[in-house]
Amino acid sequence: MISVPLVDLYAQYQTIQGELDEAIADVIKKSQFIRGPKVSEFEAQFAEAVGRKNCISCANGTDALYIAFKCLGLKPGDEVLAPAHSWISTTATITQAGGTVVFCDTKRDLFTIDPEEIEAKISPNTVGIVPVHLFGQSADMRPIMEIAQKHNLWVVEDCAQAHMAQYRGQQVGTFGDAATFSFYPGKNLGAMGDAGAITTDHQGLANAMQMFARHGGLKKGDHVIEGINSRMDGLQAAILSIKLRHLPSWTQARQQRAERYSRLLDVVEPIDIPIVDNKCDHAWHLYVIRSEKRDELASYLKAHGVDTVVNYPTALPFLPAYERYCFKPEDFPNAHYNQSRILSLPLFPEMTDEQQDRVVGLIKAFYQ
Ligand SMILES: *Cc1c(COP(=O)(O)O)cnc(C)c1O
Repeated sequence: MISVPLVDLYAQYQTIQGELDEAIADVIKKSQFIRGPKVSEFEAQFAEAVGRKNCISCANGTDALYIAFKCLGLKPGDEVLAPAHSWISTTATITQAGGTVVFCDTKRDLFTIDPEEIEAKISPNTVGIVPVHLFGQSADMRPIMEIAQKHNLWVVEDCAQAHMAQYRGQQVGTFGDAATFSFYPGKNLGAMGDAGAITTDHQGLANAMQMFARHGGLKKGDHVIEGINSRMDGLQAAILSIKLRHLPSWTQARQQRAERYSRLLDVVEPIDIPIVDNKCDHAWHLYVIRSEKRDELASYLKAHGVDTVVNYPTALPFLPAYERYCFKPEDFPNAHYNQSRILSLPLFPEMTDEQQDRVVGLIKAFYQ
């Protein structure tokens, strides 16, 4: 029996083992564990890869959001618009930074924040918008940026799932005032541990974020404010520098895998295959289908050695963490519709045809 994992990080390691082992050994030999040239090198490389002037590395993608929101200066009562469908980091950090989350429903078939919902939820207290490029596909950035300009709002793009994705030929992370990234191991660009980064063209914001993430000072002992300690370590930076070189080809491989899935699964009437917005170059962090029999299908696949996951089983507004708002399903009909139907299939650059055929064959068998 062929078993198919959701992702196979060891397979990825094996393809670049020589380069990685050498880079890791070098960090150890030079004891460049915290700060040091490896981190600055990666920051410069990543800023260039995204197409922004500054990259501030940090401990993880959640910190990246928190640092960005903190440095945008949220005041009590400030409202920030965010999608109802995302990972909880997107909104928990808004609250933690002192703001108020205002959820917007997502588009039913694209899973990203609906610009019409943004318009509808703007109030005199709104200060910013956080589009999330969920599953690797860009949010509809043109109307979002138009709304932001019209109402004088800042925009922070949550790019945790969308490294190198594009919208109308422009890379995500270059639309908003700042963009945040996660390098959690399973993300499209993944470290061997936790890591994250923020990119921005605003020098003032970059300085503030740098300072806040480094104990409130740019020089040791000179603490201008009370900051936090959020840093990427040298090993992760060295690993990410190596992996960044391979990211374009890995993204291509994901695209090929995703297209092949869609070609093969298109004939399976009862499931919805993911829809690609023709304005977008999808980075395919996740290949998400919809099924009315989602849970049965997932159990069937599991019983036959195929791992799947639901990203995410409960849309944010319906989580216990947001019980205080007393939301009802009809408040976010699309996020609610999707939460019980979505299923993420195995997808990773090293996935073989044989593995993919196994997944597809089982899905067809389930429906026969
Ligand atoms: C992974 C993720 C984050 C958080 O990143 P961590 O590195 O795990 O803290 C934030 N937002 C989204 C959409 C994510 O997928």
